[in-house]
Amino acid sequence: MSFLVDKDGYYGDFGGAYIPEILHKCVEELQNTYLDVLQSEDFKREYDRLLRDYVGRPSPLYRAHRLSRKYGCKIYLKREDLNHTGAHKINNTIGQILLARRMGKRRIIAETGAGQHGVATATVCALMDMECVIYMGKTDVERQHINVEKIKMLGATVVPVTGGNMTLKDATNEAIRDWCCHPSDTFYIIGSTVGPHPYPDMVSRLQSVISEEIKKQLAEQEGRHCPDYLIACVGGGSNAAGTIYHYINDNRVKIVLAEAGGKGTDTGMTAATIALGKQGIIHGARTYVIQNEDGQIEEPYSISAGLDYPGIGPMHANLAAQKRAIVLSVNDDEAVRAAYELTRLEGIIPALESAHALGALGKISFKPDDVVVLTVSGRGDKDIETYLDFEK
Ligand SMILES: *Cc1c(COP(=O)(O)O)cnc(C)c1O
Repeated sequence: MSFLVDKDGYYGDFGGAYIPEILHKCVEELQNTYLDVLQSEDFKREYDRLLRDYVGRPSPLYRAHRLSRKYGCKIYLKREDLNHTGAHKINNTIGQILLARRMGKRRIIAETGAGQHGVATATVCALMDMECVIYMGKTDVERQHINVEKIKMLGATVVPVTGGNMTLKDATNEAIRDWCCHPSDTFYIIGSTVGPHPYPDMVSRLQSVISEEIKKQLAEQEGRHCPDYLIACVGGGSNAAGTIYHYINDNRVKIVLAEAGGKGTDTGMTAATIALGKQGIIHGARTYVIQNEDGQIEEPYSISAGLDYPGIGPMHANLAAQKRAIVLSVNDDEAVRAAYELTRLEGIIPALESAHALGALGKISFKPDDVVVLTVSGRGDKDIETYLDFEK
């Protein structure tokens, strides 16, 4: 059995494309186009060149000696924090904008929560001279002032969304509404492995450069392609998908996914979708969703804005349902502690999202010769205030 997408856009019971009638034509156009473009020599040449010269890839695979000693195993960090714009998200936005151009689209829309995907999208729109509209919940616009200013400086428009709780879920609904009104000239760049097929597969493929590099770099440094463990945090699931992509059907490699426990999975203040979610439909895909007894989607909570999503990518829902992945909830305080630990042991300040992956280290019993690869999905510059406030 493969854990990658099937020809109908499903991962086991999860995925598919549950969309309004008006979007059928453009989603179908995307389904029929994306693989041919992504696999074409012309696309690959331009994508690889931009990843190298603009993003700064390959990102290093760094043997973290002091962290390894602490956890009694060999830990390597995959340094997505060193990419241009500070996280893994740019791998995906570069790929999708190259696809949009090849499909003749002129206008780009995107949703953003913390603003990281908004910045990564506005960045590639500046690079490619495309019109760019970013939907962002009003609450997030107020909380994430610096990213809003960056997006504007890059020449994009930010539309504050006032529906619902005015956060990521509401911004996504509004972006989908815009897409419905402009299906022919607009390309919707989704920021994670969520949404209707083909988005989860397309975003996974564009992020798979992470595991492609891990394979090569681990062979050079460790003399083997396969680690014993891969560890990544999951919001929608894109950095995790990229980290595991080329290992997903290799059972020798254990996969650990860290989701945001918030204040604790039994407190109602949590974003631990796999621990608490039930099957439902969110933003065009069948997956686990945090919902109440009437099927109403509940507001998630996490200290980390990038993990604060009430759904989860269908690939990851299936990995959890099939027990291919070990899923751990890491709470706010555990993540913050892990961030300080990495900072003091290795001199690397991680993003709060990545700190959840680090917080999983203490929940696993390693053997001394275990080789562990953990993806640091982004840098912590955007989170300094939150780290300081938490310490108070
Ligand atoms: C957005 C973000 C995440 C969460 O998104 P995934 O799609 O689950 O990877 C994780 N880390 C960082 C740094 C982010 O910006």
